[in-house]
Amino acid sequence: MVMQEMNKITFVAYDTICTICISGPTEESSRLLLEKAKRLALLVHNTLSMYDPDSELSKLCASYTFGKPAVVSKMLYDFIKLNLEFSQQTDGAFDFTVGPLVKLWDFLGDHPQIPGDQDLERVKKRVGFHHVHLSSARQEVVFDAADMMLDPGASGKGYALQLVSDFLKESGVKKGVLDFGGNLFVLGSKPSTEGKEEPWSVGIRCPDKKSMIGAVNLSDRGIATSSWYEHCFRKGGRIYHHLLDPLTGRPQEMDISSVSIISSKAVYTDFLSTAFFVMGFEAGCKLATHIRDRKGIDVDYVVLKKDGRLLASKGACLLS
Ligand code: ADP
Ligand code: MG
Repeated sequence: MVMQEMNKITFVAYDTICTICISGPTEESSRLLLEKAKRLALLVHNTLSMYDPDSELSKLCASYTFGKPAVVSKMLYDFIKLNLEFSQQTDGAFDFTVGPLVKLWDFLGDHPQIPGDQDLERVKKRVGFHHVHLSSARQEVVFDAADMMLDPGASGKGYALQLVSDFLKESGVKKGVLDFGGNLFVLGSKPSTEGKEEPWSVGIRCPDKKSMIGAVNLSDRGIATSSWYEHCFRKGGRIYHHLLDPLTGRPQEMDISSVSIISSKAVYTDFLSTAFFVMGFEAGCKLATHIRDRKGIDVDYVVLKKDGRLLASKGACLLS
């Protein structure tokens, strides 16, 4: 991706490297906006991280008194509300309360392992989005199961991208690229020396290999990919990956090997890529169509099926 004539800031958040590039009217104004954008991104991290014990979300889960309403910040409240909606829309295939299962498998740690049946059964009692209740009047959360742990892993980066890209747009930024650990959002089109407007071209990786299977053209849209390859381990000839079936507590059986979601709403790219992967091809396509038709949110997809076939919805405009 060409980043000429752009100002850039890089920082670590959400356990990954985040980069924001923008071209503002002046270098000084760009620098100022980049600092503010970084602060906003870090605020999301400090509110939502499951791996930072000092985040608001970690403290809420760690110090929660069973059955007692807890007042939370507007950001945490909005995030939980959105995730409850996502979980309901997918009948719980996407479930943001999978935190205890994710920690049990330890996919993000150095020694991931297959848990025993008893451990899985015990931990599953702490999982289920229907155990989370909200009261908007007082911005309160109630859990009706003990030791719950909300996991922002599937939607937090998209949520941050959404807030930061909205902030930059509202601040008048016309061109930019935001990359939060591979979740991308582009503002406007690519700066071109000949004065021509061109979309950004973003490559889509082949799972398990370094090669690209194609690219999509993006303007004012984002892309997020879910696949088994980022966090997985192999044992006895099987792949154990980090996208879990909340009902069994085990990695979801795969009928696709990767899905990329493209949308002008960054939070939907992240949520929907995870949801699509765990739901499988047919139900995933139905959900994408439902969100497009019923909610009026543009969502396109590029799917790599397990048999190697590459499929894309019309709006995705895939280049080989
Ligand atoms: P990445 O981590 O590469 O951004 P995803 O956005 O697909 O990939 O998120 C994967 C993460 O989502 C997992 O590491 C885990 O924390 C969480 N997760 C796993 N299974 C589910 C599920 N069924 N519903 C919601 N979140 C899940
Ligand atoms: Mg996701």
